[in-house]
Amino acid sequence: MAFDRQQLRIPGPTPVPPQVVSAGARPMVNHRGPVFKSTMMNVLERLKKLFKTQNTILALTGSGTSAMEASVANLINVNDEVLVLVGGTFGDRWAKICSAYQAQVHILEYPWGEGVEPQQVADFLRRNPRITAVFATHNESSTGVLNDLQGIGAALADSDALYIVDAVSSLGGVDVRTDQWGIDVVCTASQKCLMSPPGLAFISLSERAKQRMAQVSSPRFYFDLRIYMEWLAKEEPPFTPNVACFFAMEKALDLIESEGLEQVFARHMILRDMVRAGLRALDLPLLVADKWASPTVTAVKPKFDNIGRFLAELRDTGVELAGGQGRLSGEIFRIGHMGNASPLDMLTTLAAIEARLGSHGQAVAAAEQVWSRAQQEQRGGQGYEGDSV
Ligand code: PMP
Repeated sequence: MAFDRQQLRIPGPTPVPPQVVSAGARPMVNHRGPVFKSTMMNVLERLKKLFKTQNTILALTGSGTSAMEASVANLINVNDEVLVLVGGTFGDRWAKICSAYQAQVHILEYPWGEGVEPQQVADFLRRNPRITAVFATHNESSTGVLNDLQGIGAALADSDALYIVDAVSSLGGVDVRTDQWGIDVVCTASQKCLMSPPGLAFISLSERAKQRMAQVSSPRFYFDLRIYMEWLAKEEPPFTPNVACFFAMEKALDLIESEGLEQVFARHMILRDMVRAGLRALDLPLLVADKWASPTVTAVKPKFDNIGRFLAELRDTGVELAGGQGRLSGEIFRIGHMGNASPLDMLTTLAAIEARLGSHGQAVAAAEQVWSRAQQEQRGGQGYEGDSV
């Protein structure tokens, strides 16, 4: 199967729309000239609507993990006590980064396949008043769980701890209300819901976070966010940035804005509900209960062995899915439905899955019903609140 005809249904990188590909292929410009200055400022300003924040947003040339590491390097001192909420490999990544920076890491582990209970976070903070920061994962891509960011934010209300969130696989596809939910730091990246190639990470910083940054003595240079702040005041990047990815992002933001952010969120919920209905019709067990189901990625824990072979066969038919990670490796497979993904794409993906499993039409019919119902609700002006949550 030619790779350009492939259905890329993994939890990132996601399919880049053709207009975004072309925008990214523009001839190079001077990164200190007027064209780049206006592009960079335009992208950072418009991202504030997606982050739902008045806070400063900085761009880093790197993947999502670069923004995660920058948060730790700039906000955590050696021996600071931090709380990391771990329910999958990306929560675990926060813990690893904090350990690398020699923080005293407390882990609140919640089951892989469930979300964290905000009350547990509140109880932990009450018992451990020295915690200086709480690290959360909004959408745990390794399990397909969407955590309750608002609830976790409320659990932090009586604490001085900074609230630091990985929204790498949610921001731009799922509502993230940075200011309303009291989130000090939000990290995301270009290659997931933002429909651009990999290569840029974005990080928002509250006033509290900026103040903390000034008191942190951890060694840092390329990711020293104080340097990025100084240069931002001059509307320039400190180092040569990923210029092509900025051009792509500008076009991707056009697409998101013309669809409308709330409609983008509704579409992701429709995709989730279509995929879940289709998989249920095939008796494929879902890893995550409806309450925690992610609008951007769905994990399946099939009863059959050799998921690797199943995924390789699907790849031969032109559909690329993802396997499991960490302790779920070999146990699950995952379907990405974020960014540039449509209901029709879900029908194609489900058709390929069911054909491999010897079923014909059941999954597609179940998903199609969800889609029809959603369209009716939307035409009736009700919006789409979701089928299964
Ligand atoms: N956090 C989450 C939730 C992710 O899904 C990913 C990417 N899969 C990352 C962090 C890491 O991002 P990157 O691979 O861009 O460094």
